[in-house]
Formats: sequence, structure tokens, C-alpha cells
Amino acid sequence: MKLIADLHIHSRHSRATSGELTLHNLEKYARIKGLGILGTGDFLHPKWRQEISRELKEDENGILWSSSGFPFLWQTEISLAYSQGGRGRRVHFVILAPNKDVVDQVTGFFLSKGRIDYDGRPIFGFSSIELVESLMAISRDIEIIPAHAWTPWFSVFGSMSGFDSLKECFGDKVGFIHAIETGLSSDPPMNWRVKELDDIALLSNSDCHSFWPWRLGREANIFEINDVSYKGIIKAIRNREISATVEVDPGYGKYHYDGHRNCGISLPPFETNKVNNICPRCRKPLTIGVLNRVEQLANRPEGYKPENAAAFYSLIPLSEIIALVNGNGVSSVKTWKMFYDLIKKFGTEFKVLLEAPEADMEVVAGEKLAEAIITNREGRIEVIPGYDGEYGKPVLGYKPELRKDCSYGQKGLGDFF
Ligand SMILES: [Zn+2]
Ligand SMILES: [Zn+2]
Repeated sequence: MKLIADLHIHSRHSRATSGELTLHNLEKYARIKGLGILGTGDFLHPKWRQEISRELKEDENGILWSSSGFPFLWQTEISLAYSQGGRGRRVHFVILAPNKDVVDQVTGFFLSKGRIDYDGRPIFGFSSIELVESLMAISRDIEIIPAHAWTPWFSVFGSMSGFDSLKECFGDKVGFIHAIETGLSSDPPMNWRVKELDDIALLSNSDCHSFWPWRLGREANIFEINDVSYKGIIKAIRNREISATVEVDPGYGKYHYDGHRNCGISLPPFETNKVNNICPRCRKPLTIGVLNRVEQLANRPEGYKPENAAAFYSLIPLSEIIALVNGNGVSSVKTWKMFYDLIKKFGTEFKVLLEAPEADMEVVAGEKLAEAIITNREGRIEVIPGYDGEYGKPVLGYKPELRKDCSYGQKGLGDFF
């Protein structure tokens, strides 16, 4: 069976999240999106942990089920801040755990290192190497995944406080790292340019902090597995047997280009080089984004595709497309009415985005919107790239070419449903 998974989310106990982020609402919007499983988010947080225990029931395969039969798996995110090689490092990790027993031990470990009750994503002062050592001593079934691996401030490859390679970050523990999360601002073709990542699964998750339902599952992984089990999912990750990932255009992410948000300066890497990484407005160093950072660490030309690379879909969320065509805001009543009309007719957002026939969509959505949904399906929505924490903006002006590197150019588009 095909299982579409968003394995990095947050609860309402994380900072800058909405009180509406309850298990009930997460399930509701996951079902509307067409997701088949969610991470629990924030399992270290005592209050969220209580809610998980109260509302979900764990089976013998390490999957947590809601009363209405929706699966979750144990997931949390932590932040490490430490120095190594004379530089300050800040790295975020997604942690997946096989069952409640292991979650208890992991929680005990982090509690011995600091507080876990002030934020769903707590910060600790020890190294990535110590993290791997300590968690692997608890259980080899735990999965440790560098989160949004390219973002400038808080990631393993980040331009401001990261490393130049996984090896540099993890030393002789690097073999325990099987996957990275590529983050919104990079897509698989960008990651393919780094040789070290050939043996690493490229995962895509939403890292959804806000309640806004369109953000859940905006990036996701498609697994082909026999039954819903923790072992099955981990095995697929470790063997790099992911059928496909759902991606947004990397320009949509908050750190694709270089720049300064407050100065209104956004630059592609070649322009940044011309100004020697210095902001033309405030004369301070620019925040170097993901495109530039990939260029720095790449040891292959643009366009290189490794053998056995997983397929991917490049899609802007449906609500953004509706807002774009109809000229209303993403969170406006009109946008959501149209969104739900389409969901009612076709079942889930992924079905609308990937499968619904244009002629059928025209009846519900009108010609212009139906055409835009098809254009999105072809990976041809133009995006003004994000920079320095500012999201990219989709615009109505289509790229002339079909994207050849994403799965629209391949067979079996409808196979996933
Ligand atoms: Zn993070
Ligand atoms: Zn500036």
C-alpha cells in the first residue's frame, strides 16, 4: 500500500504555534490533505505526552491510533547549541522512536540534560556526536534525522552555524545517520549534487508550526509498505526505498535566496558574490540562503541525477493556488469555500493536486482555476524566491517549460492513489 507520511510536525506546546494544534485537528487536516500517517510532534513535552497517552492507543508495531483509526508515530524535534572546531554550532534534529518504552528512556535522557517543559522543541548544550551516542545506547531503532538540513541558522549544513559535511558533524558516528530532511528551500535535484548524500535518504516533511491547515503535508514522503508499522517505515528510510516525495518549489521556502529581510534585499548567489556577501543597504553580512550553500558544498554540476534517485512531485499547496487565481487571501473565507468545494468533489487535496481531470475541475472551480491546478501539477507555477526568513511567493506567470526532473515527466502520475 501507498502511505503518504508527514514525519515532522509540532504541537500547540511549541513556540509560535496555535492553540488549535490538537491531535483531533491534526488528524482532521491530515485526512483532508490525503496524508496516511503523521508524526506526533513534540513527544518530549510533558503536557503533549499526556494528551498523546490519553487520546491515542499504541499497537504492537509502535503505531499510535486515534479512536477514529488514524495512525501517528512517535516523533519530536530538538535543538543542539554547542561549539566545535572553535565555532558556534546550532543543529536541529527530528527524532523518531519505536515505542512508548523507548520514548520513556529518551525522555529520561533529555531530562538529565536540561528542561523539556518550556517548549515543544527544547534546546540542549551537547554535541551531535553525543546525541547519536546516547540515543543509540538506548535503542538502535531510534532514527535521528538532521532537520531542514540546509537552513542558515539551525541546521547541519547551515551557512551560519552548520558543518561542511555530515562526517564533520558526526565524526565516526556518521554511519548512524540514514536520512536528512531536505527542508522547503531545497529540492532533491539540489541535494543530488552532493556526493556524500548518495547513501542518505532525502526526506520531506512540513515542519508545520502553525495551525494553518495548508501547511500540514505541504511536503511529505510516499512509502510503499505492506502494513503500517514503525519497522516498515524505518526500513524504507534506511534502505532508501522511498517511492517519492512531495516537494514545494524550493523558491517557496523561507531561505532559498540570500538577503536581508529588514533591508528588503534578496539576491541570487551570483549577485551575492558580486557584493562580497555584504548587504548593499546596511553594509552587514547577508544571510546566505540554501541555494548558495548548496552551490558551496556541491561537488557535481547542476542537473546531475544519481541512479536510484527517488521520484518527486513539485507542488504548491492548493489553497495558495486558489488565492492566487481568485485574488483573495490564503486564509480568506472565499478561498476556503472553494477549497472545500474541491475536497468534497474529489476527496483529498492530493487528489485534486495530482489526479482530478481538468474538465471535472472546471465544473467546480471554473476554467481559470482548473487550468492553474494543472499548471501546478506540471511544476510550472512561477515563484518569487524566499530569503532571510521571508516565504517565497507564487505568482501568476507560468514557466514556459515542463519540469523534466520531477515526476510529471515520468509515467504513473495517478498510480499513487
Ligand atoms: Zn527545526
Ligand atoms: Zn541589510
